[in-house]
Amino acid sequence: MNLRVDPFEWAGGHPGLDFVNTLDDRPSTSPVETLGTYQDLVRFAEMADIIDPQLAAKLLRFNTSRASEVVMRTRKLREHLFNILMSLHRDQPAKQADLEAVSLAIQAGHQARVLVKAAPPKLTEYCWRPLEADILLHACSLAVERLLAEVDRSKVRKCGASDCDVFYLDHSKGQKRLWCSMKGCGNREKQRRRRSGLAKE
Ligand SMILES: [Zn+2]
Repeated sequence: MNLRVDPFEWAGGHPGLDFVNTLDDRPSTSPVETLGTYQDLVRFAEMADIIDPQLAAKLLRFNTSRASEVVMRTRKLREHLFNILMSLHRDQPAKQADLEAVSLAIQAGHQARVLVKAAPPKLTEYCWRPLEADILLHACSLAVERLLAEVDRSKVRKCGASDCDVFYLDHSKGQKRLWCSMKGCGNREKQRRRRSGLAKE
């Protein structure tokens, strides 16, 4: 991967949504996998600020067959989250199988952390144990937990463009943000509506 180019979609406004958006160009027939390799996953986790740069450097050393398996499991977690978000977007209940798969991943994420001593002003802090590739999956799971357990449902939106399934947190006043990006989907959709005579402007 070309490290100078940032391949990730950061419109989510929350690490859990940035995570679900790592399969880019949904719902096309050929979505773009930005978590193609273990290095991609390390880079995403570091850029999303769910692991720190020192840990990212250490985790890059674990590029083994086990690491490839972690990438596959992380992608599966992402797809369970996507299914949950799409159900909620359609005002349907999330499937229990998706919720259970995500719950198990979150439980494993909690079990992979221990409290250790910390410098003041902290009393203690969490540390991942043991140091292994799975930390990346666990860090994504806990970001998903924060999204699903703490975020106001009404603020989680899917891009309004018919050909874009990017999810984002809508912090706009009155929650009127319609697009993942005004420059991209917003302009494209406005042009499309104008051509079909749907636009008022
Ligand atoms: Zn979009």
